[in-house]
Amino acid sequence: MERKIVRSYIIIIVLILSHPVFAQDSLLIENVTIVSSHLQMPLKNVNVLISEGRIKEISSSKIVLPSVGKILDGQELYLAPGIMDSHVHVSSVPGMGFGVEPVAQRNGTLSEKYYRQQPYSFLYYGVTQVLDPNPGLQWPKFTSSPVHPDYYRCEVITSIDTFPMVEKTDPLSKTMFSYIVEEGVADTTVNSPEQIIERISASGASCIKVYFEDGYGDESQWPLLSDDTLKRIRESALQHKLPLVAHANALDMYQRAIDADVDVIAHGLWNWGEFSRETEVSKTMHGVLNQLMNKSIGYMPTQRVIAGLGELMLHNSHGVPEFSKVTPKELLEWYKQPSAQWFKEELRAGFDGLPDEVIARIFLKDRMGKGDKILQTLTEAGYPLLLGSDFPGSPSFSNQPGLTTFLEMKAMADAGVSLVAILAAATSNNARQFNIDKDYGTVEVGKVANLLLLKQNPLTTVDAWSNIHQVILHGEVFNRADFAADTMANKALQRTSR
Ligand SMILES: [Zn+2]
Repeated sequence: MERKIVRSYIIIIVLILSHPVFAQDSLLIENVTIVSSHLQMPLKNVNVLISEGRIKEISSSKIVLPSVGKILDGQELYLAPGIMDSHVHVSSVPGMGFGVEPVAQRNGTLSEKYYRQQPYSFLYYGVTQVLDPNPGLQWPKFTSSPVHPDYYRCEVITSIDTFPMVEKTDPLSKTMFSYIVEEGVADTTVNSPEQIIERISASGASCIKVYFEDGYGDESQWPLLSDDTLKRIRESALQHKLPLVAHANALDMYQRAIDADVDVIAHGLWNWGEFSRETEVSKTMHGVLNQLMNKSIGYMPTQRVIAGLGELMLHNSHGVPEFSKVTPKELLEWYKQPSAQWFKEELRAGFDGLPDEVIARIFLKDRMGKGDKILQTLTEAGYPLLLGSDFPGSPSFSNQPGLTTFLEMKAMADAGVSLVAILAAATSNNARQFNIDKDYGTVEVGKVANLLLLKQNPLTTVDAWSNIHQVILHGEVFNRADFAADTMANKALQRTSR
């Protein structure tokens, strides 16, 4: 009789331990304030139970469990969704370009060091999801890191005559494009838009990227994909439920992208009101923006592209103190070398020898001012934004992983975007735009536990996004310092496996 009771106790204990809620990986955050864009205002003093990498329970009353893996005291902390940056290029090394490009090729060891640190640098700044709209060939280095933000990618469709393929001059650089479309061929042809999108879909990509770029500045030497090809890409992408993302940043290119019914324009509109060819465009900046809003096309400001060009021209551009947390020190050393100044010299040449300070001002004041004006126009209309930094945006080393995402949020705040709108842009809007809002974007039961414990309220100051206490990735808790490039701690991360 007694033995029977003991045995049923054992069975009950085994049942309790095997129940997912009581698993050893569970995490309980007590008395925390939740900041999430589905809430009208922050939810104070709640308890959040996380298990098996997801949010299991949110309660204002105490959650009592017989066993819990870890308990965190959330008093005076803010629990926010992890940040999603929907425009980053993980194959591109700041100061070098994509891994297959000549400067990165000449500095193989340094690039490898960079690729190893990069996922941790994003996490250091609370970026727990990234979308890469031109993944190149090195992205598996990012996803094979033992700890990394969740990774989504678009695949690029280009033709040999159009940007960005047309701009690549050496054979190795051309290899970064895997989907080269042939125009005017039957839909059964191997490189027709339809067959290419079939393959992109099968590859597990989340979206399609096309480019509307006929030349930089006032130039217009490159052709665009034909209207017929764009129409076929649009239809096939719809059939495969893949959002269509466009590169465009000048008024006339915006118009073409809007006419092609794209879902997202992945750059701010910086180029308007200064070029002669604009006289050919009947629409004004406001006219183009109204069409964008009427068609509900997603807008990514990407102000850091321009900032990265301007800051590169400033004295001591490699000496930003924040770099030491996100950039390997060997790479910081390299940025001081004459061989690392190649892109700065290219920019100087493009401006016919204007003084560096003048070039910097053209980007940081004039061009960014145009981006600010667009942000103000959209903000006045209450139009939702998407956070996308286009990190690193160019071969400038003024943009560094994670830090650039934070600076992009700061640039939005500087332009007058509200902190509520920035929270939504960085979390729920991005998740919804790319069809992953079932899993990400808010602090709600059932969502993936990619979360941040912040020391300040992000609805009070944008700096809260860089005042991070801990980063939670699929329910696993990391101290921010674990991810820093200048600590030994992340060496330990590299040995653990997930
Ligand atoms: Zn980009």
